Amino acid sequence: MRMHRIAVAGLAVALATPGQAQTNRLAVAAEAMGATSLNSVAYTGSGFMFGFGQAFEPGERWPRFVQRSYNAAISYQTPGMRLTTVRAQGEHPPRGGAQQALAGEQRAVLVVSGKFAWQEGGAQAAPNSAAAGDRLRQVWASPHGVIKAAMANAGKVDGNTVTVTVEGREVKATLNAQNLVEKVSYLSTNDVVGDYPIEIAYTDYADFGGVKFPRHIVQTDDGHPTLDITVSDVKPNAPVALDVPANVQQAAAPQLRVTVDKLADGVWYFGTPNARNWAVEFGDHIVVVEGIGSEARSLAVIDEIKKVIPNKPIRYVINTHAHYDHAGGLRTYVAQGAIVVTHETNKPFFEKVWARPRTIAPDSLSKSPKPAVFETVSDKKVLTDGTKTIELYHMKGTSHNVANLIVYMPKEQLVFWGDGYNPPEGDNPRDAARTPEQSIDLYRIITSNNLDVKTIAPAHGSGAKPFDNLRKAIGLIPL
Ligand SMILES: [Zn+2]
Repeated sequence: MRMHRIAVAGLAVALATPGQAQTNRLAVAAEAMGATSLNSVAYTGSGFMFGFGQAFEPGERWPRFVQRSYNAAISYQTPGMRLTTVRAQGEHPPRGGAQQALAGEQRAVLVVSGKFAWQEGGAQAAPNSAAAGDRLRQVWASPHGVIKAAMANAGKVDGNTVTVTVEGREVKATLNAQNLVEKVSYLSTNDVVGDYPIEIAYTDYADFGGVKFPRHIVQTDDGHPTLDITVSDVKPNAPVALDVPANVQQAAAPQLRVTVDKLADGVWYFGTPNARNWAVEFGDHIVVVEGIGSEARSLAVIDEIKKVIPNKPIRYVINTHAHYDHAGGLRTYVAQGAIVVTHETNKPFFEKVWARPRTIAPDSLSKSPKPAVFETVSDKKVLTDGTKTIELYHMKGTSHNVANLIVYMPKEQLVFWGDGYNPPEGDNPRDAARTPEQSIDLYRIITSNNLDVKTIAPAHGSGAKPFDNLRKAIGLIPL
């Protein structure tokens, strides 16, 4: 019966006009996949996930975590998706970032429902509607989603390749000999690397109640795996809970508010949720410590810098390491004429990725290009003009990143780092989410370089704290 149906469809293709042939190939694929009567699907799996942008060495694979469970529930009608995941430490010993070393299991619930997106798990849903486009693209990049999107939006078929525009971006699907979707690819964007490819491979198809679904899903982001899931259960047309919480519906468009704290004479600490950096006033210029976050964050911080240090140019921006959450805002400073100070290992990486196309999200540097100027650090570097002194030390032998710097101001007894210990809110110094390995590493770097520290003011966490809080966190002083 089945052979007969396909043979008839093949005949129709041969006789049809090109437009009809495309429609027919999509219809054949929809039939083969069981997509036509599929309004929703819930699937469960486990395997591995990986921390995008958090490699131990620039350009290396992403660090691996065990994905204890991966539960996706997709509605093609709403459209929307509820993704519930649990991850645990996967690198032994720890290698790279993404909150290693995880102390236990970490659960995340990400939801998109039409134009609304949010995260669950806290006391209240956390609105994040800026993520709606990317998450809806995930819905339409699912095996059945891409066929449905192509049928509904005049997708083009060329040989085995189906092309359709989803959420403003071209998505390509490859059909195998059985007319099942074996690969979906599209471009995404990141502030560090610009445009980069996402590819999702769907293999080892099986029948689940008349619907064909892959039992193995592997996604790569910019060439390295970010997800590798073995699917154990698939429920076609399962109900999907996508009611938008009231606080998400009513949430105003987020505004980037920058807090400004004075750490010492001529040293300011700028904070946005989960990201902090410094500006230091030298005699005739400004040194920014960490181009953390994104271009949007850098522009907001630069506005505040100009208020506290008027009429001086930003001559240097120090980068602790090349993890994308720490380097995403660097290019904005380059566009404004600042020299990048980073470990020598990072220079060729930044030069390579900053030369890549930025068609999806052009930034100020891509709109008015100029070559980035670097000053590199091997073991130690001192920036001083007699009025202010900043010392940079290579953080040797840490598991977080091979080319990581710690920033120290000897007169002010202040220290800044990118990752290692994030001061928790309040007086309790213990960071419960991670094991103390990174904090102990940090303490080793500080003591082995004989840094006389009074105050820690790092890139993440709740703000400036006494150095003793770090010593308490690793058990050197009782809590
Ligand atoms: Zn990092």
